[in-house]
Amino acid sequence: MGLMTSDQFVKTTSISYCAECHKDFADNETCNYTWYENDCFCHDCKEIMNNRVNDKYLDWQLRIYKK
Ligand SMILES: [Zn+2]
Repeated sequence: MGLMTSDQFVKTTSISYCAECHKDFADNETCNYTWYENDCFCHDCKEIMNNRVNDKYLDWQLRIYKK
């Protein structure tokens, strides 16, 4: 299941909050998935993770939270 945006196909996620700061995602809010943690992170915590782990390991993928 996914959504078409103007220029890319973005998968949806049912993960409802950021794994780092535990901020709840709003319906249709974008977040960042990494297989490294098998979890989703908000945009602020993506930057935190990039400082913690080399982003070539994180391989970020944009996701959209759907209730
Ligand atoms: Zn966060």
